[in-house]
Amino acid sequence: MSLEGTQDCLFCRIAAGSLPAHKLHEDDHILAFLDIHPIRPGHALVIPKAHHVWFEDLPEALATRITTCAQALARGMKRAYGVERVSMFYTGIHVPHAHAHVVPMHHVHDVTSAAYMAEGPERFATPPQATGAALQSEAATLRAALK
Ligand SMILES: [Zn+2]
Repeated sequence: MSLEGTQDCLFCRIAAGSLPAHKLHEDDHILAFLDIHPIRPGHALVIPKAHHVWFEDLPEALATRITTCAQALARGMKRAYGVERVSMFYTGIHVPHAHAHVVPMHHVHDVTSAAYMAEGPERFATPPQATGAALQSEAATLRAALK
């Protein structure tokens, strides 16, 4: 945990209650609130109250707490909006304080990559299949990096 940046960090200030937010859940360690730039109505963010920039640096218990909260939000979003699926993702964009996006998906491209839109917004394209050699190479690269 680091308290660096708490003066300047937008999400630290929201977590401390010095900036307002439309809160959905709060406990001693995390806060869930509505994104003010929603992809879809109900688009929520779940943050640790402690300042961590990257999700991969979150202590395991804190990461689990965020995921558990996102699961509860997803179940609620399915009931509230009648959607089949809810997406959860970290991008590390916009605010340098780890935040999980939780978005009720009304369309398959609500949360997507340009790679999935090669056939236009009405289709969901599958990116080209990687060769066995390419997959073998990437697996070796990552296994080495994980050591
Ligand atoms: Zn922060």
